[in-house]
Amino acid sequence: MKISHKFSSLFHLRSMLPSFFLILSCMISSSPQKASTKSPHHDFSYLKSAVSSLSNPPEVESKNQSSSSGMKSLVPDFDTDGRVWSREWSEEILKIAKKPENVKWIKSVRRRIHENPELAFEEVETSRLIRRELDELDISYRFPLAKTGIRAMVGTGSPPFVAIRADMDALPIQEAVEWEHKSKHAGKMHACGHDAHVAMLIGAAKILKAREEHLKGTVILLFQPAEEAGNGAKRMIREGALEDVEAIFAMHVSHLLPTAVIGSRSGPLLAGCGFFKAVITAEQSRALNLCHSADTVLAASAAVISLQGIISREANPLDSQVISVTFFNSGDDVDVIPNMVEFGGTFRAFCNTTFHHLLKRIQEVIVAQASVYGCSATVNFFKNTDSIYPPMVNDDRMYEHVKRAAVDLVGPTNFKVVQPLMGSEDFSFYSEVIPASFFFIGIKNETIGSVHSAHSPHFMIDENALPAGAATHAAIAERYLHERSVSISMLRQDKTFLT
Ligand SMILES: [Zn+2]
Ligand SMILES: [Zn+2]
Repeated sequence: MKISHKFSSLFHLRSMLPSFFLILSCMISSSPQKASTKSPHHDFSYLKSAVSSLSNPPEVESKNQSSSSGMKSLVPDFDTDGRVWSREWSEEILKIAKKPENVKWIKSVRRRIHENPELAFEEVETSRLIRRELDELDISYRFPLAKTGIRAMVGTGSPPFVAIRADMDALPIQEAVEWEHKSKHAGKMHACGHDAHVAMLIGAAKILKAREEHLKGTVILLFQPAEEAGNGAKRMIREGALEDVEAIFAMHVSHLLPTAVIGSRSGPLLAGCGFFKAVITAEQSRALNLCHSADTVLAASAAVISLQGIISREANPLDSQVISVTFFNSGDDVDVIPNMVEFGGTFRAFCNTTFHHLLKRIQEVIVAQASVYGCSATVNFFKNTDSIYPPMVNDDRMYEHVKRAAVDLVGPTNFKVVQPLMGSEDFSFYSEVIPASFFFIGIKNETIGSVHSAHSPHFMIDENALPAGAATHAAIAERYLHERSVSISMLRQDKTFLT
């Protein structure tokens, strides 16, 4: 996830930015317990609407528009016998996750990965460790996808297929946390919690395998490389990660939520993210004492200042956007104006239209300002290297599914609706293909010091979140398959009742 130390500067650029993760309230307006006691025959219109929408399984549509079906869950809270998704099943899932031997194991998986961080597309040992664990669990998989990625499978092998994804890569950061399992590789660190993501997904695999006879379809477990730098998601998709899959979920650790608290929101959750590098040139270098020189430094400085005007004077203040210049390089001569100045940075927005407008304006402003000072400019947006991430927009129904599964599992007070973040995630590429929902799990615990943001060298997590995270993944997947199968069978058996 692209939430880096750069954020401090991003805030300076835009005082109107929403505060990160201001937790609003628990928006559990209708408790699942209440809904579960409802007879299907008492709420005919709801049933009709739910089943009729399931005659069209989750659509593959442009996910930058939230689903507006109005249906708040995949299916009603009951099956063909009037039986709800039972809290018992959630409890059984949690019970497996919390077995002392499983807690010990999941922590050890995370620690082994933490000690051996690997950067984007270099996750060779991490991938090997995962495959070894999958072999131990007797779970089949396809390897490789996207160089080091894995596509594992638990369940019937038949539709419906639902996917859960974890990213595997570390960051080029020197770990500053002194502890027993500190990174053994200088300059590399799991500072974004992807070690925990892998551990929680393997933990979910173990739970799902233990409950395989209950699965009414197939769970695909995606272990993805290169979230941070190389758009691993795009390569995974190109190489078949989403084959047959109709919905996908992913989780990220958050230092802003207390340990094991789950948080998400419907609609836009994370910003789209792009990068640019401008090169401003003049015909030839000029001595400082010459008049009429084409001053590349002045032109570049004016361009940097003008870029801020896009946000402060053009952008809709209710549509959060950021442009941040993060480097400026004009050499180190003290008596010569350089022929060339380079600068660049990042830009972010919550909707595709705004995002592409920003891109266009960045180009126009830099080229025009260079021209004012008699210079030329080119702007590179790195489009060929897949470094533009679309905004992460949660599908309404998938978000509701996450909420319902989490509330049943961890309780209503441990689910929070969160504010959108200016961070970015390449999980958004999956969400452009099939309905998806991204959510957070808290790892904040002041008593052990896990209070630092991701991408900080001081970043650490409260490992007590790991079992809850594994259970949440497993519950989301198992419940998805259960509810989809119930809805399909209702549709087949009871069409006449609904007409
Ligand atoms: Zn990150
Ligand atoms: Zn991340």
